[in-house]
Amino acid sequence: MADITLPTDLLIDGAFVRGEGDAEKVLNPATGELLVALPEASVDQVHKAVSAAHRAFDAWSETTPMERSRLLLKLADAIEARGEEFARLEALNCGKPYARALADEIPAVADCLRYFAGAARCVSGTVANEYLAGHTSMIRRDAIGVVGSIAPWNYPLMMAAWKIAPALAAGNTVVIKPSEQTPLTTLLLARVAAEILPKGVLNVIAGRGTSVGQPLVEHPKVAMVSLTGDVSTGRKILQAATGTLKRTHLELGGKAPVIVFDDADLSAVVEGLRTFGYYNAGQDCTAACRVYAGGKVYDKLVADLSSAVRSIKVGAPDEPDVEIGPLISDRQRNRVASFVERAQMTGHMEITAGGKARAGAGFFYEPTVVAGARQEDEIVKREVFGPVVSVTRFTDTEQAIAWANDSDYGLASSVWTQDVGRAMRVAKKLQYGCTWINTHFMLVNEMPHGGLKSSGYGKDLSMYALEDYTVARHVMIKM
Ligand code: NAD
Repeated sequence: MADITLPTDLLIDGAFVRGEGDAEKVLNPATGELLVALPEASVDQVHKAVSAAHRAFDAWSETTPMERSRLLLKLADAIEARGEEFARLEALNCGKPYARALADEIPAVADCLRYFAGAARCVSGTVANEYLAGHTSMIRRDAIGVVGSIAPWNYPLMMAAWKIAPALAAGNTVVIKPSEQTPLTTLLLARVAAEILPKGVLNVIAGRGTSVGQPLVEHPKVAMVSLTGDVSTGRKILQAATGTLKRTHLELGGKAPVIVFDDADLSAVVEGLRTFGYYNAGQDCTAACRVYAGGKVYDKLVADLSSAVRSIKVGAPDEPDVEIGPLISDRQRNRVASFVERAQMTGHMEITAGGKARAGAGFFYEPTVVAGARQEDEIVKREVFGPVVSVTRFTDTEQAIAWANDSDYGLASSVWTQDVGRAMRVAKKLQYGCTWINTHFMLVNEMPHGGLKSSGYGKDLSMYALEDYTVARHVMIKM
C-alpha cells in the first residue's frame, strides 16, 4: 500500500487547488504514522467554493432528471472502475480491512449513486386538480440551492455518496467537507467527479470543523446544511444556521438496543452480535451495542457471545482474514478504554471478553463484552463508538421496551424472537428510526436511514432523502 498516490488538492469551481490554510495531519490508524500533512481550505477558499456552487446552480437545476441521472450513473461506473484504488485508500486512511472496504463499501457507494440516478426520474406525489373551482393546483418539488455537506470519519466515501447523490439528483449543487481525519477518498472522488460533472456542481474542501466547516455552515448562500456527526456538532450547526434560517439535515449518533427474548435462535443472535456489534470496530452509529437479554438466555448468551468475540480477528487492513481494524485515532481509543475502565470500576460489571488496548503500533482495541450492565450505567446510556457491547438482563417485555426507549438516542434497534406477533408489537413501540427483526445493521438504498430524538432528523437513502433535498411548492393557475 506504500506506493499509493494520495490526493491532496481541493476541488473548487472545476479546478484543483492546494489548500491555503493550516496543514492538518492525516494519519494511518493501523500504524499511527503520518500519511500526509494536508493544507486545509482557507476561509476565502470556502467562500469561493460556495460562490462556484451558487453560480452553477441555475444551469444544473434546469437540467432534466434524465441528464442528471445519466451523469450520476457515469459517476457510479467510474467509482466502480477504480474500486480497488478507492478501497485501498479508504483502508489506508481508516485502518479498515481492505477486503471489507472493497466488497462492502464500494458496491454500496455505486448502488447509492445508481439508486438516486433512477429515483430522480420517479418522483411522485399529489396530482394536479381543481381543488378550488376554476383554479388548477399543482405540486412541484424543486431543488433548494447550494447544499453544504459535512461528513464523519467512519465511512468517508459512503457518507459522501449518501450526501452527494440525493442532493445532485434533486438538482442542488454541493460543497462537501469530509472529516479532517479522513479526507482522502473524498478528494479522490473529486478527481473522478470533475471529469463527469459540470464545473461548480460539486466542490470538495478539506479541513477542520471550526476553521472550514463553520464558515461553510454560516455562509449566507448555503441554503441547506447536511451533517453526519456527533450530537454536539449537530447542536453547533443548528446554532450557526439560525442566522440565515437554513434548512438542516442532521444524522447524529446512536446507541442501538438489541432485545433478545428467551425464544430467540441463540446461535443466530450470537453470530449477529459478533458481526453487527463489532463491524468497522464498532465505529458505527447503528452498531448492535446495547443488548437486553431475557432471564432464561442471559447466561448462555454472555458465555457464547464472549467466546465468539474472542475469535474476532483484529489486524491491519491487508492481513489475511482480518475482520476488524483499529480505531480511528489514539484519542478515540482512549475514549473507548476509559468507558470500559469506568464500567469495571463500578464493581457489578464484568469484562468477559477483551477489555484492553492492543500493545504495539496503531490504535487497536480488543473486541469487548461487558456483562452485568444495569440500565442506569454509563455504558448503557452513552455512545462508546468502539468495539464494546454491553449485556443487561431483563425480566419482562414491558421492561425491555421501557429500557430500550429510555435513551437520548433513537436511530436503530433490533428485536430477536421466533414469535412474529411479539416482534411486531415490540417493533411498534420502539422509538427508533429503524427496527430490525432477527437481524441488525442491514441497510438498503430503497429504505430510509435516520433517527429520532438526539439522533437527529432528516433521512438518508430512499425517496425520503430526495424529499429532504427538495422543497414542495404549490403552483395555482386561475383558468
Ligand atoms: P464529529 O461531529 O466530530 O465530526 C463530523 C464532521 O463535522 C467532521 O467533518 C467535522 O470536521 C465537522 N465539524 C465539527 N465541528 C464542526 C463545526 N463547528 N461546524 C461545522 N462542522 C463541524 O463526528 P465524528 O467524530 O467525525 O463522527 C462520529 C459521530 O458521527 C458519532 O457520534 C456517530 O454516531 C455519528 N454518526 C452518525 C451517523 C448517522 O447516520 N446517524 C452515521 C455515522 C456517524
